[in-house]
Amino acid sequence: MDAAPAPAPEIPRFARVAVALPVDRALHYRVPDRLLAKVAVGTRVRVRISGRPAFGTVVGLDRRPAVERVLDLDDVIEPSARVGGELIELCRFVADRYGASLGETLESALPPPLRRGRGVRRVATIRLAGELARDPSRVAAEVAALQSRREKQARALRLLAEAGGEVQERELLRRARIGPSPVASLIRSGFARREFVEESSDPLLLASAAPGAPAPRLTPEQRQAVDAVGLALRSPRPGGFLLFGVTGSGKTEVYLRALEAAVAQGRRGIVLVPEISLTPQTVARFRARFARTAVLHSALSERDRLREWRRIEAGAADVVVGARSAIFAPMPALGLVVVDEEHEPSFKQQNPPRYHAREVALERARRAGAACVLGSATPSLESWVAARDGRLTLLRLPHRVGGGALPEPIVLDLAHLPFTRHPRLLTDRMRAAISHVLGRREQAILFLNRRGFARVAFCPACRAGMKCGACDIALVLHQRARRLICHLCGREEPPSGRCAACGQAGLRFLGFGTERVEQELRETFPGTRIARMDSDTTVARGAHERILGAFERGEIDLLVGTQMIAKGLDFPRVTLVGIVSADTSLSIPDWRASERTFALVAQVAGRAGRSSRGGLVIVQTLHPDHPAIRCAVRHDYEAFVASELPQREEAGYPPCTEIVRVLVSHPDPERTRAAAARAREKLAPMAGEFDVELLGPAPCPIERVRARFRRQLVLKCRRVDQLTRVVAWARERVAQSGPVRVTLDVDPSSLL
Ligand code: ADP
Ligand code: ZN
Repeated sequence: MDAAPAPAPEIPRFARVAVALPVDRALHYRVPDRLLAKVAVGTRVRVRISGRPAFGTVVGLDRRPAVERVLDLDDVIEPSARVGGELIELCRFVADRYGASLGETLESALPPPLRRGRGVRRVATIRLAGELARDPSRVAAEVAALQSRREKQARALRLLAEAGGEVQERELLRRARIGPSPVASLIRSGFARREFVEESSDPLLLASAAPGAPAPRLTPEQRQAVDAVGLALRSPRPGGFLLFGVTGSGKTEVYLRALEAAVAQGRRGIVLVPEISLTPQTVARFRARFARTAVLHSALSERDRLREWRRIEAGAADVVVGARSAIFAPMPALGLVVVDEEHEPSFKQQNPPRYHAREVALERARRAGAACVLGSATPSLESWVAARDGRLTLLRLPHRVGGGALPEPIVLDLAHLPFTRHPRLLTDRMRAAISHVLGRREQAILFLNRRGFARVAFCPACRAGMKCGACDIALVLHQRARRLICHLCGREEPPSGRCAACGQAGLRFLGFGTERVEQELRETFPGTRIARMDSDTTVARGAHERILGAFERGEIDLLVGTQMIAKGLDFPRVTLVGIVSADTSLSIPDWRASERTFALVAQVAGRAGRSSRGGLVIVQTLHPDHPAIRCAVRHDYEAFVASELPQREEAGYPPCTEIVRVLVSHPDPERTRAAAARAREKLAPMAGEFDVELLGPAPCPIERVRARFRRQLVLKCRRVDQLTRVVAWARERVAQSGPVRVTLDVDPSSLL
């Protein structure tokens, strides 16, 4: 009895491809014979959309096409990458949660050389040439000569010299706010050369392990925390933890031990830290315990990032330490995800997919059956409420290791100081404290979260304020660079000293930044070694390290800086921390202003008194009674929450609701207004379908940015379980790119 021959199984040769464009659905392509052996789910491919080439990732293979006419795939991208199914699913979650396309999300999860598929890129680098390279002191003369008629060239040349005579062309154009032609002119004139070179890594990041001190004996509090995580690691659903520990309480040691527990089980860990904390010291601390530590960081060259990614994928790293995007690292057998300084705003990505790495970390851990530990001295209200509601397990480290008490700060109320015509930034009390420190050959940190010299330039004749031509904010005077600079778009203007509106000479300058603090210190304490650390002084690669290294070696007495110096620095000779103004982030019209202020002041205040020498914290403020400041100086997080949370509740802001910002922008104010009104109409029916409140449109507090007018609508979604559907619904109806841009931002970091 002969069975009828079974029909030959059809080969699944129709690929669903998530393309790296803001399109919603995966598209179908036929896999041509020559590629059949190479294509599987997760393969990166090149396709065509309306005749144009595009990149994408195969997210499924079907036996039949979903549509009648399908095109062939063009090719497989080299160097090849196979995106694992787990990662595809994670990206699907991110795409849905944050209103991005799956293809875009997959793309951003990969290291750059795998995105475009051309291997490691060579980048155009501009170098000083000829005489100028040999004698940089001549640059100033050439800049002056170009200044009047070739202003853009002058600016580019000055920035090139400031960057040490060598800078990536893209970076130069960005910083100088110019197109390519002024740089081409500089090259033609023989001032500069263009070379194509492979990017190099910040060598410090590849530094090997510091000779590891033996692991310390845990304090009882640390022991409890480590045991709790260790126990969870043995369960199939370990869950999430909030490690709430004051600065210096030994949180990192808890991460290290919990990672050891995971590694002992044959599993691995991902550690996310904020970009600015991802320093060689941080990496060395992990390397000292885990020889197989990988690093993912944007300061690594493309080649090194690719190499680290491949190592991780191959299981050759036990721990990866990285910034935000390391949450997508292709780590097999994940056992633990750590998010250090989980309250940091930099965990939120500002372009699509606009994800929050903390949320993604929790989700990734959940899917992988891994534990997740969020750590902070000043937890985000989101995490605090999650712990209160039992979604996270709260672990506390209320004391510093070694018992040193957090210093009780001295608060100086600036409102009570006598008025003087030439106000000084540093009060007599602050000056006296600095003198005292200098006299004892110790060190001080002076913190002000604003860079520049003066914040506001205005004309006493017509009272006009000098604003950026493209943005709706005041230009900031940077004295060293002799420029007025827009802190939003980077545009610079030479300060002619004349009013842009009426032409009158004699502009006045008000408000202050780090540059002015530095100047005042130099005048008050001549001969003292002073350094400033902010984004102006740390442009060059390694500058950050150089300044901190010099400070650590005692070659600097006073360090002035922005929030860059608030992070994780641990210098035993620092016995004074002065907060020049605690108010900089308070008056920002944003619902997170208080929370940010609290976190910053608490972090900075926690820098002092780390050693037996003790320490003093002095806080200058106009608002000594504001809860954010009052609680921060007492290191009383819970009192702050008790004052802040009811306000969030009442106003309907996170963590009491989920909010989605719909941002409409166009260079023309009328078209922006009309488009925002249309968006409102399209979104209005939403209120009937979901438990959502629709607000706006209203102009953004900063109405114009980069020559575009901006209006926003805010969706307040009271039910978390509806959020993804709300986002999909809204995205389908209003999101668009084109002249009028309408973008969605789920859980925005601010509404400015
Ligand atoms: P946090 O991250 O909470 O600010 P760290 O983990 O940086 O604190 O710890 C602060 C300091 O205390 C570090 O120098 C660390 O090496 C040290 N330390 C941590 N745990 C212990 C311990 N159990 N015994 C002794 N020293 C410790
Ligand atoms: Zn601007």
